[in-house]
Amino acid sequence: MTNPNSSYVFAPPATVSVGVKGQAARFPVRRIYCVGRNYAEHAREMGHDPDRELPFFFQKNPDNLVLDNQDFPYPTMTKNLHHEIELVVAIGEGGRDIPADKALAHVYGYALGIDLTRRDLQNEAKKAGRPWEIGKAFEHSAPMTEIVPATQSGHLSKGAIWLKVNGEVRQQSDLTQLIWNIPEIIAHLSASFELRAGDLIMTGTPAGVAAVQPGDVMEGFCEGIGTIVTKVV
Ligand code: MN
Repeated sequence: MTNPNSSYVFAPPATVSVGVKGQAARFPVRRIYCVGRNYAEHAREMGHDPDRELPFFFQKNPDNLVLDNQDFPYPTMTKNLHHEIELVVAIGEGGRDIPADKALAHVYGYALGIDLTRRDLQNEAKKAGRPWEIGKAFEHSAPMTEIVPATQSGHLSKGAIWLKVNGEVRQQSDLTQLIWNIPEIIAHLSASFELRAGDLIMTGTPAGVAAVQPGDVMEGFCEGIGTIVTKVV
């Protein structure tokens, strides 16, 4: 039935939001940016020189989030689905051309996420000079924890980050190993895009990325944030 009073030709999708530790109000998500290759060992394992590259960015979609330790459904089209554990920065105040020494004032808090990647499709896209969306921005590709406000965690610049699959350590590093730290990431990103409150930034993954299969349980941890668990189904 047509509703003559409606502003929309169909019901708009609900706002995607992430829980915030210690409070009932939720964090509404606008965009999800991701940093490519931001730990030297991971850059090397992907065949790149970590020393000569400026940070670069791609995006996932807000509705790709998997929240509350829900199961992760194995996606279509891939035979090589990789885990990438990543610190996530939640932007609370937007801006453009934000200088690094002012950047932390724009951070609302932090979360822990997994940048799931259809590596075979990403590699084909790289070879063909095509965009990465098919490898990166598919349904359910971004499991994430609730956000810990920086007022609780402090600003994160060091601490262990790891990912286990079925209890076995696959990725293990420390936030001190980020090539571009959080203020530098915000400075670079805000030079190319206007940041707004509600933006999330996945900050890149340490070495040790590898495939998971249905039935596997991924458990990630980052000091200052806590644990994420998701089962591949
Ligand atoms: Mn990643």
